[in-house]
Amino acid sequence: MQYIFGPVPSRRLGLSLGISPIPGKTCNYSCVYCQLGPTDNLSNKRVLFFPPEAILAELEETLAKKPAFDVATIVGEGEPTLYLGLGDLIQGIKARVQKPVALITNGALASDPQVRKEMALADIVLISLDGYDQASFKKINRPLGRIDFDQVYAGLRTFSQEYRGQLWLEIMLLAENSDRASLEKFARLLKEVKYQRLYLNTPVRPPAEAYVQPLGPQEMQEAVQVLGGISIDLLLSQGFHSEIPDHYQAILSIIGRHPMNQYEIESFLAGRGCPAAGPVLARLDRDPAVEVLEYQGYTTYRIKAKKG
Ligand code: SF4
Repeated sequence: MQYIFGPVPSRRLGLSLGISPIPGKTCNYSCVYCQLGPTDNLSNKRVLFFPPEAILAELEETLAKKPAFDVATIVGEGEPTLYLGLGDLIQGIKARVQKPVALITNGALASDPQVRKEMALADIVLISLDGYDQASFKKINRPLGRIDFDQVYAGLRTFSQEYRGQLWLEIMLLAENSDRASLEKFARLLKEVKYQRLYLNTPVRPPAEAYVQPLGPQEMQEAVQVLGGISIDLLLSQGFHSEIPDHYQAILSIIGRHPMNQYEIESFLAGRGCPAAGPVLARLDRDPAVEVLEYQGYTTYRIKAKKG
């Protein structure tokens, strides 16, 4: 398979069927934290790297094997909005897949109305915002040439006002953008963006630059307090473990003692080699013994207290 990969468990999206329309590694940024390493092909030109038909034919081949997944995700080995056929590709995926289509992008091209139009075809758009001004943007994202922070931010703001789907933002927090003053600058920028979720992340895989250090739990907690988002670190299993072989019974036994959110359940199941959290979560939603609580962007599950 050249374009389709997975399904793979994703902390934010559940079980994700990946679709890559970009040759590796082609990007308009060369982020210091990038887990793909330094950008080989630094470019800001949209190109029809591959015909959409070829990608969709491979998708059909994959779907014929009936893989279980929660979302089809366009995520290039680089920046997927550089793919000139993005709009046709999203429409083609939507015609073939009965699941939400997500797009993961750095948002650098959101200042272009045509790109915004294509991005808006996706059900979920995840956009990164790692800098809060030109200096921090250049330091962390190392964009090509004249890509300007104010223009990128304006594109994000406009997209957020036009878009009718789910806009999820992600900030990658490093030593360079996580002191109190930086967090307050982010908070000011975020006030003008309409988004449904904010994920706060810190590198967990080897970054492009060896000097990049992840934040510790306390610093992540401070960022959550200032920005009000969800720390991706906190989405990981907190060491939940069960000897019960049946996945569902194992979760019931844990949530009888300790509530778990959807991400902890996904992570717990992935750790046990259970590839599909979706059906388990759906069963929990229907289970009359289980209480389902929505709080600050988390869906939390616990066993209902017995009356009397
Ligand atoms: S935008 Fe994404 S793919 Fe491009 S360099 Fe940054 S992290 Fe890597």
